[in-house]
Formats: sequence, C-alpha cells, structure tokens
Amino acid sequence: MASAAAGTLVVGAGAAGLCLATRLRELGDDQAITIVGDEPEPPYERPLLSKTYLRGEHDRSSIFLREAGWFQQQQIDLVTGDGVVEIAREASGGTALTASGRSIPFARLALATGAAPRRLMVEGADLDGVVLLRTLTESDDLARRLRQAGDVVVVGGGFIGLEVAASARALGCRVTVVELTGHLLGRAVTPELSHFFRQAHERRGTTVVLGTGVSRLTGHDGTVTAAVLTNGTRLPADVVVVGIGATPRTVLAGGLGLDVEPRGIVVDRHALTSDRATVAAGDCTVSPNPFSRGLVGLTRLESVAHADDQSRTAAATLLGHLAAYDTVPWFWSDQGELRLQIAGLPMGADLSVLRGDPASEKFSVLSFRDGLLIAAECVGASPDYVAVKRGLEKGMTVDPDAAADPSVPLKRLLTPL
Ligand code: FAD
Ligand code: NAP
Repeated sequence: MASAAAGTLVVGAGAAGLCLATRLRELGDDQAITIVGDEPEPPYERPLLSKTYLRGEHDRSSIFLREAGWFQQQQIDLVTGDGVVEIAREASGGTALTASGRSIPFARLALATGAAPRRLMVEGADLDGVVLLRTLTESDDLARRLRQAGDVVVVGGGFIGLEVAASARALGCRVTVVELTGHLLGRAVTPELSHFFRQAHERRGTTVVLGTGVSRLTGHDGTVTAAVLTNGTRLPADVVVVGIGATPRTVLAGGLGLDVEPRGIVVDRHALTSDRATVAAGDCTVSPNPFSRGLVGLTRLESVAHADDQSRTAAATLLGHLAAYDTVPWFWSDQGELRLQIAGLPMGADLSVLRGDPASEKFSVLSFRDGLLIAAECVGASPDYVAVKRGLEKGMTVDPDAAADPSVPLKRLLTPL
C-alpha cells in the first residue's frame, strides 16, 4: 500500500501521534507514515500510570494501545527510543534528523510532542527519591519505590497529585499532599468540587496542606528523607512525588519559526500551525476553544479526549479536508474508587447547581453562564455526565432550578437552546 516516497512524519508517539496516524489510514491515505517517539516503548495508555498500573493491577503488556503487529499491518513505520532533534522545512516537505542520526524525509509534517513535567526548583530536588511522573519508565520506578515507602509527600494538588495520593494510600503509605494555592484541582474544577475532593481524600487518611509550598528537600547519603515546607513544617519523606504541572514541548516548533506561546504551539481550529502546512495536536498545542458555548480565545486542554479529537481533525487537514475541531471537551479522573467525569468546561461559570449530596460521594455540580448550561462535574454519577455530554453536543441546556432535584433524570430536563 504505502510507497517508499516521503509521506507523513508524525513527531511524538503518544495518544495524539498514534490517533493522527490511525485516522490518516482510516481516511484512505496510502502514502508512507512514520511515527517517531523518543520513549523506548510503543504508544501506551498514559492515564493508567497514576492509577491501576501504578498499583500493580495490570501487567505491563496490557498497557499498550496497539498490538505489536498492528503497525506492520497498517504499514506505519514506528521508530521508538529516538527523538527528532532538528527539522529542515523546504518549500514542500522537508527532512527531520533524529538523535541517533537517522534522516527522515517527509512530504507532510505533524507535531504531537506532548508536554514535559515541571520540575521543582528547590534545594534537594535532585536527591534520589524525588520523582516526576509522565512516562511508563517513571511509573515503573515510582511503583517500586511506593512498595518500600512509609511516608510519601506529594507536591502539587492537581490531577497527578491526587491520583498518586489515592494509589499510594491504597498501597499502605502515609501520604501528605502539599498544594501552593488554596484549592485542590484549582485550575480544572469548581470550588464545590475542590472542597469535596479535599474532604474525600482526608476521609481516606491523606493529609492535605493548602496554601503552602516546599522550601527545600533534605536527605541522607544522597536520598531524600524530608520535605521542609514554607511554613517551617518538616515532613518525613521516603518518596517525594512532584506533580506541579506540565510544560508543552515546543522546541521543534520554535525552531521551525512557528507561532509558539508559553501555553503551546498556536494552531487554528483545523489544527494548522502558523506556516499553514504543518499540523500540531494534543498537549503541545494551544487552540481556539472547541466548545462554542465556552470562553472565547485560545485554550490549552490537556486530556486524552482532546489529543484524540484534535489529532483526527489534524489528519483530515493534512489530507485537505478542512473540518473544524468543535467537540465538547470531556475529562475523567479516577482517584482510588472515586470517579470524576467532566463534560464541558466549567471555567467562567456565573451559577453552580448542586445535584445530590456530596457526603454520599454520588453527586453532580452543573455550571451555567448567562443562564446556559456549560458543564457538569459528576462524581459517581455517570448518568448525569452522559446526559450533559450528549445534551451539550446537541446544543441543549437545562433549567437550573429543575436540575437541582436529583430524583428527576437530567436527560428528561434537556431542552433545545
Ligand atoms: P503525550 O502523551 O505526552 O505524547 C507525546 C509523546 O511525544 C511523548 O511520548 C514524548 O516523549 C514524545 N516526544 C516529544 N518530543 C519528541 C521528539 N522531539 N521526538 C520524538 N518524540 C517526542 N488525561 C485524561 O484525559 N484522563 C486521565 O485520567 C489522565 N491521566 C493522566 C495520568 C498521568 C500520570 C499523566 C502524565 C497524564 C494523564 N492524562 C490524563 C493526560 C494525558 O495523558 C495527556 O493529555 C495525553 O497523553 C496527551 O497526549 P499527547 O500525545 O498530546 O502527548
Ligand atoms: P496540574 O493538574 O496542572 O496540577 C498541578 C498543581 O500543582 C496545580 O494546582 C499547581 O498550582 C500546583 N503547583 C504548582 N507549583 C507548585 C509548587 N511549587 N508547590 C506546590 N504546588 C504547586 O498538573 P499535574 O497534576 O502535574 O498533571 C500534569 C499533566 O498531566 C497535566 O497536563 C494534567 O492535566 C495531566 N493529568 C491529567 C489527569 C486527568 O485528566 N485525570 C491525570 C493526571 C495528569 P498552579 O495551578 O497555581 O500552577
């Protein structure tokens, strides 16, 4: 099927890179496709790294997104363990150079380079036992350490912090989460949800310290033994997990002279970059809000759903079908047995409606702006999540007063705008 002539080069073998290549084949592209990934493994399910995989509930082989034979069957050349370090663009196509010296010519280029975890910039951050979590290798390492640890300090009360805290508790560790701001998950969820997650984690034995940072890490013989907080508290630590956000990997895009801002490679709603030929998708991008009821302006979304949806758009764009990326965003986060599902984007809400009792750990918070439903955050309430996701996709809303009664299924309350 594929010719040996330069076809599409996809840089990055994560969710976005794999989905983009898959979609090219689904759309009938019969040109060569090469995916280059700098991690040693083929594409895998990154979300499991802080959840079931970290807790040892999967064997390693079940985490991969495709069977080994799939790439050959699809005539997709997958290069692993080798990063693209330089790209020379010509009038049409170009050539990429990898760290090992491979030269890969291409006619079309897609950047799916993801994001890298932010490092903690304090004294002692280089001690053994201070770890980041982004890759399978890092999850394997953390899993081994948690099995030997007594005290775990998690720096950052975002998604990684809370998912790892729940997993570490399940493995029997004593866990403290240290969050700089006054709220857990502050950037992603409403204050109601943030408050709920604090209480839920505390009920499960995790200590949560808000409004406090880590001023330094101390150790013995090169290994961490304690975290000293900005309020002077000293917490014993066998492991310190740093989950303080991720920075988009934009170096290649910058080298190509593409528009890049701190939140990512700037793309339009067709996933096209500023050179109008290269596409980019996933965590490495900042793009127009895909949800028409959402806030206007460029948005950075960091989720598997976004990586998948935007990369499908990018594949179509590469083949000349200019469809717009306008999917309703959705997310999930499993924190131990607690499952959070979010449909839409709650940012910028001017009204919140609670459905159900947070103490039961089964409830939803619906967010409205200017009287219109914009999001639902659902804990143990999948029917609410499914109803709102479908409703938003179909351009529907609900009456805020009626929505507060959890005995009435939300799907019955949806009305067209
Ligand atoms: P990535 O998955 O980061 O893939 C990019 C790949 O490109 C990486 O393998 C990177 O090494 C490689 N790369 C970068 N530069 C180069 C180069 N120059 N040459 C070659 N290769 C390169 N999202 C959810 O929606 N739900 C969850 O429950 C969830 N849980 C998560 C748990 C953890 C521990 C982490 C770290 C993330 C989680 N996420 C979750 C976020 C989700 O994994 C990301 O949004 C998603 O992986 C983004 O996909 P991507 O392909 O854009 O980036
Ligand atoms: P995150 O969700 O952005 O959370 C990081 C948190 O740490 C933020 O609240 C941040 O506050 C705080 N923080 C920053 N610096 C700090 C410091 N020095 N000390 C203490 N707290 C600090 O990022 P993450 O949890 O590290 O996750 C990394 C990436 O993986 C993100 O892309 C995330 O979306 C993704 N991920 C997603 C899921 C999911 O969707 N279920 C699960 C895991 C990971 P500020 O906001 O003020 O910076």
